[in-house]
Formats: sequence, C-alpha cells, structure tokens
Amino acid sequence: MTETAEFPTGPLPRHVVRPSAAAGFLLVHVAAVLGLLLVGFSWTGVALCVASYYLRMFAITAGFHRYFSHRAYRLSRVPQFLLAFLGQTSAQKGVLWWASNHRHHHKYSDRPEDIHSPVQNGFWWSHIGWILSGLYDETDYSRIPDLAKFPELRWLNRNQYAPTLVYALAVYFAFGWTGLVYGYFLSTVLLWHGTFTINSVMHLFGRRVFPTADQSRNSMIFALVTMGEGWHNNHHYYPSSAAQGFTWWQVDMSFSLLWLGEKIGLVTGLRRAPSPAVREALALARSKLDVSVVTSAQAMDGDPLDQLAARWEGIRDAARVTANYLRSPEALADLETARLRAVQRLDVLQADYAAARTRAEAAASSRLAELGAEIERTRRELHETLLRLVAAAESLGLSAAVSA
Ligand SMILES: [Zn+2]
Ligand SMILES: [Zn+2]
Repeated sequence: MTETAEFPTGPLPRHVVRPSAAAGFLLVHVAAVLGLLLVGFSWTGVALCVASYYLRMFAITAGFHRYFSHRAYRLSRVPQFLLAFLGQTSAQKGVLWWASNHRHHHKYSDRPEDIHSPVQNGFWWSHIGWILSGLYDETDYSRIPDLAKFPELRWLNRNQYAPTLVYALAVYFAFGWTGLVYGYFLSTVLLWHGTFTINSVMHLFGRRVFPTADQSRNSMIFALVTMGEGWHNNHHYYPSSAAQGFTWWQVDMSFSLLWLGEKIGLVTGLRRAPSPAVREALALARSKLDVSVVTSAQAMDGDPLDQLAARWEGIRDAARVTANYLRSPEALADLETARLRAVQRLDVLQADYAAARTRAEAAASSRLAELGAEIERTRRELHETLLRLVAAAESLGLSAAVSA
C-alpha cells in the first residue's frame, strides 16, 4: 500500500460535501442555539462552557496534536488511553484518524496534495469542507504504525463517537440541562471552530517569522484561544517540539501544563523549543539552499560549463550543510524534506552538467579537427608556393650556391 493510496491526488473537489455529515454538523449547532434559548443565560453555564472547552482543547492540542501526531513527549499506556478518550469527547472523529491526517498535512503542507490547505482549496474547504466531504473518512494506518499497535487505541478509533456520548451524558447527569447545553453542545461547537481555525486561519492570517515552505502563521489571539496552537508558523518550522511558543511572551498553555506534568513525573521526554544555536544552524542550512536557487537562476546566462559547475557546487554544499545538521541530535523532520529536495536537485544538475560537458567536448573536438585541417591546407599551399619559387629561380639560372 502506498502512503496516499486512498487519497485523490491533484486538485481537490471543493464542493463535494456529504449531506448526512453536513446535517449532523449543523444539527449540533442548532441544538446549541435552541438549548440556549430554552435554558436562558446562566453564569454557571458560562463557567461550565469555558471549563469544558479548555479541558477538551488541552486533550486536542497536547493530546491529538503534540502527543499522538508528533510524539513530542512520552506517556505510559493508561494516561495515553485517557488522553485519547478525552480528545474523542470533542467529537473530532477517532484519535488515529486525526493523527494520520495531521501527519499527512505536515508532509504536504500547502502543496496540491495537502488535504486541508486554504492556499490550495480556499478557506471553507480547509476549515470544514474536507471533513464533511467524506473523501477522507478512512484512517490510513500506514502513516501511524507506532499508534496502531495499541488495540485500545484502535478500538477507540473504531468507536469514534462513544466517548463524546459518555461525556454528554456525564455533564447532563452532573449539571442537568444547563450542563448539557453549555458544557456539551455550546462548548463542542466552539471547540470545533477553535480547532479548525488552525487549519484555515493560521495558514492565511498572522505573522510569518520563519521562512517555511508553507504559508503557516503566528497569532497571539489564536494562541490564547487554542492553548498555544496559534504559534503555527513556529510549529511548522520545528514540528517535533512540544513547545509551540518559542519565547517567554509566546503564551502556550498546553506546554505549561505539560511542563507541570513533567514535574510530577507523568510526562517524560518532553521536547523543548529549538535553542538559538539550533535555529541559527537551521537558518544557515536554509540560506545555503536559497543561495543555490539564486545561483541556478543566474546560471541561465553566461558560460554554461562554468555556471553549471558553480550551480552544482552550491547545491552540493547546501546538501552537505543540511546533511551535517541532520546528524545532530536535534535533527528535524522538515529539514529532512529540504535535504531530499537538495539531493534530488543535485541529481538533476549532475545529469545536466555531464550532458553539457559532453556537448562542450564534442563541440571543442570538432573545432580542433577543423583547425587541424586548415593548418594542413595552409602548409600544403606554402609547400607548393615554395616549390614554384624554387623552380622559377632555377629557370633564371640561380642556384642554392649562388644565393648562399
Ligand atoms: Zn498547518
Ligand atoms: Zn502539527
């Protein structure tokens, strides 16, 4: 099975939405609005909504995203199951489905293969269309062998709505109708859109700090709404880090809680943001790659052999710097992509270089042959002229002895 076997390739159909999925999605919105009208305003309700939102947002960002999709820290098996269960109370399908699609997103970010890129297919497709389309309902297990080996996670993934039903019943029995409306329906709707903005808004609006190959961006507002996920440009730059805020002021509540988890011994192997030295090495490797691109563009004019040789050397150096960096313990998945690109470009250029060299040598050797023939012809002419001169001189009675 190839990695993208079940996924349509090329431009995605934008308007395909499965009516049953869209109806279910809309019904939960309607239930939230009607429920609010029926139970009326309540501060207890607001508190329940906020608490339920952030509890489950933590399970999505620290759990589905940083733990299951990126393995940015380690947990033992029971907390792992509980985090997956809590994440699925947010009704965002199965934990394995979520992680598998998210790994695909990082592999193809904002390229035509990306299943939820606003750059490729527009805002609404990236926000909700791809989920309601039914095109990606299956879980591609080939991308998540490390997770699929746990039978309890496969069970959760198959019974994707069991946790959310249990959760809805629990808040109803604990807090009555106010609990169900505010703590379940309203908070679930907000949680959906809060999560989906990372796929839609955070690839369109905000600041780009790092020159990633995609359009990911940073935003303080969305970082507060999503417990740190708003530092999405940081995250695409360094996806293996459990921290998405890289500086003290980049608030990242999920990471702060994970840090606490590490202090009490629940979380191990918590991966930090890249140090300034690592960021510098990354910037160097990337600038080398960019220089080689500029050099290739310039090489279109001028002496093809020299320019091609320079182009080749630029690319080879870039590949070497990147490869060296990848040997360091903080090796990055996205740099690996850059390295592969450089290696591929290197192969193409080497072939170009060899072809140009052969052409140049063939041209040079045919020119040499022409020059040789011309020299030979001139020598013959000179020889004949000399012969005629000698004959003429002899006919005039001059001899070598006389002229000497
Ligand atoms: Zn992204
Ligand atoms: Zn990610």
